[in-house]
Amino acid sequence: MIKTRILSGTVALLSLAGFSGCRPAPESANTEPAESIPVLRSRQDGVMGTRLKITVIGDDPALLDRAMAAAAGEIKRVEDLMTDWRASELTSLNESAGKGSRKVPRELAAIISRGIELHRLTDSAFDITFAAAGKLWNFKTPPKSLPDPGKIKAALRHVNADAVKVSAADNTVELPAGMKLGLGGIAKGYGVDRAMKILRDHGIRNAIVDAGGDMKILGLEFGKPWKIAIKHPRRKGSALAVLNLTNTCLVTSGDYERFFEFEGKHYHHIIDPRTGYPARGCMSASVVAPNAEYADALATSMCVLGPGKGLELIERLPKIEAVLVGMDGKVHVSSGLRGQVPADGSEPASE
Ligand code: ADP
Ligand code: MG
Repeated sequence: MIKTRILSGTVALLSLAGFSGCRPAPESANTEPAESIPVLRSRQDGVMGTRLKITVIGDDPALLDRAMAAAAGEIKRVEDLMTDWRASELTSLNESAGKGSRKVPRELAAIISRGIELHRLTDSAFDITFAAAGKLWNFKTPPKSLPDPGKIKAALRHVNADAVKVSAADNTVELPAGMKLGLGGIAKGYGVDRAMKILRDHGIRNAIVDAGGDMKILGLEFGKPWKIAIKHPRRKGSALAVLNLTNTCLVTSGDYERFFEFEGKHYHHIIDPRTGYPARGCMSASVVAPNAEYADALATSMCVLGPGKGLELIERLPKIEAVLVGMDGKVHVSSGLRGQVPADGSEPASE
């Protein structure tokens, strides 16, 4: 799920966006000894069902490589703890539903507890208990039929984050029988936050961690803000907007990466917890926030809430901005990004 792109070095995209195609030479190139010239290095891994790309800039290539390896390892650690696709602490917790309270690692109790707060904040659009209904859908292989509506209705009885009991004091979680948690809408953002922390701990000051469109951006790219393109949700290869970003996060969710078509209708992986069916709020939702976990959960929520309620919420939250594409293709932009992004149906940039 790659919904955002770092533009630098991508000549076609750079010319599309009207930028010069060359990375500036480091200012110190002629005066410093060769070993202190900053270099850009990157690595790619497969994590959390998507592509992880880490990009770093610094003087010491060996250190950069060590830092990136440690950061990638950290995201894999988070995945191993929080996946519900195979055995994990989360899977064991889900298996304990209806059997009383269960001790879980502190980190898992904490993210579940933040997930529940996000449920309240988003007027129930974000719901980590969506999984009771979500598990009836299969977005990996196109199905021969839709899930049985009776089964969806029955599953909705187990979709309610308010019914999860979490104790932060003793790290216990209790799930009612039939309930299942899925952290797919928040764990990637958390992993990205953790990976960036590891890079910083290694002394890295300029970097991007991008897990399939969940991006955390640190510092500058050779003295200038990083240029990040948000993909157009319907025009492959086109950019909806290009943002200049530093020390922030940009996360995009959408209906166009994990989906299937059935009898002419589009079904995708973000579930409206009120209906048990794929959300119909936005084709694409990009959220800018200081923290990737928060941006991740809010971007998912925007796809449920739609541009109207979604932007109302974004405007109430300090330091949070959004670019939303409604189901009619109209582009809606929060107040802090107006001027940087063409809005309200104006022609987006195209390649
Ligand atoms: P992506 O994983 O494509 O980047 P998102 O961050 O929007 O996209 O997360 C979508 C994932 O979130 C789904 O695959 C599912 O695991 C989970 N999810 C789906 N609907 C909801 C919801 N209403 N609230 C919380 N999580 C959800
Ligand atoms: Mg999300």
